[in-house]
Amino acid sequence: MDLGISGRWAIVCAASKGLGLGCARALAKEGVNLVINARGEDALQVAATELRSLGVEVRTVAGDISEPAVRERVLAACPQVDILINNAGGPPPGDFRDWQREDWLKALDANMLTPIELIKACVDGMAERGFGRIVNITSGAVKAPIDVLGLSNGARSGLTGFIAGLARQSRLAGNNVTINNLLPGPFETERLHKTLSAAADANGTSVESISEQRRKHVPAQRFGQPEEFGAYCAFICSAQAGFLTGQNLLLDGGSYPGTF
Ligand code: NAD
Repeated sequence: MDLGISGRWAIVCAASKGLGLGCARALAKEGVNLVINARGEDALQVAATELRSLGVEVRTVAGDISEPAVRERVLAACPQVDILINNAGGPPPGDFRDWQREDWLKALDANMLTPIELIKACVDGMAERGFGRIVNITSGAVKAPIDVLGLSNGARSGLTGFIAGLARQSRLAGNNVTINNLLPGPFETERLHKTLSAAADANGTSVESISEQRRKHVPAQRFGQPEEFGAYCAFICSAQAGFLTGQNLLLDGGSYPGTF
């Protein structure tokens, strides 16, 4: 199916690896030109070279997307933001008794306020042009909280509540601007490998054995692949998906145990 977005421009944040790169690849395959961002310059350039080989224009902005100056550079690099994929690394695990105000502010900054700032900069232009697709990469933890990820549960739920109201503004939805959250379950990325290694160390077991246990908890009996995540994201950004807005879309191999 032709997604009808060839020639459009997208900003993809945190896109040198993992889910962000999966989204950037899927959009590039649809002919979407990209501004990609990530913290480390080297990995970003490697990703950009690969994405350019798919035949699209790719511009890069290295830096932490939660810094206002980096966001300004990202926005300035994009001739016209048709598609915005909000993403950033998740906050660290821990016990809320140990977290200070600074820890909370950092989590809120990266996983709630940064996407809101980027949306604010793009959304009215999208509405004027009659096309906009915004996808926020959040987490399955928004629907089924994970106790040690309290910073993530809290910050991402704040973003989710805000988006639920914004996406339904007729000024946006009525002008073909959609905003949706994409909620990953366990996906095979560097972050997942780090989490599994930490769990293996803590339990005095091997990464293979922990991975096997975790896979068995997923009804699909495996972890997701960034390519699968990217393909779903690209569909949400398609011309055909204009009636899909304000939703929290789980992609988790059946892990979430609820009926709704
Ligand atoms: P990853 O660690 O594999 O990818 C990290 C990428 O993000 C790198 O390109 C890195 O440079 C970039 N990055 C991180 N923080 C950044 C920042 N502040 N500014 C700019 N670039 C930044 O991570 P991932 O597994 O692809 O996860 C992406 C998001 O999805 C994270 O928020 C994560 O918490 C969430 N998530 C992931 C999973 C999973 O299983 N992978 C599950 C649930 C939620």
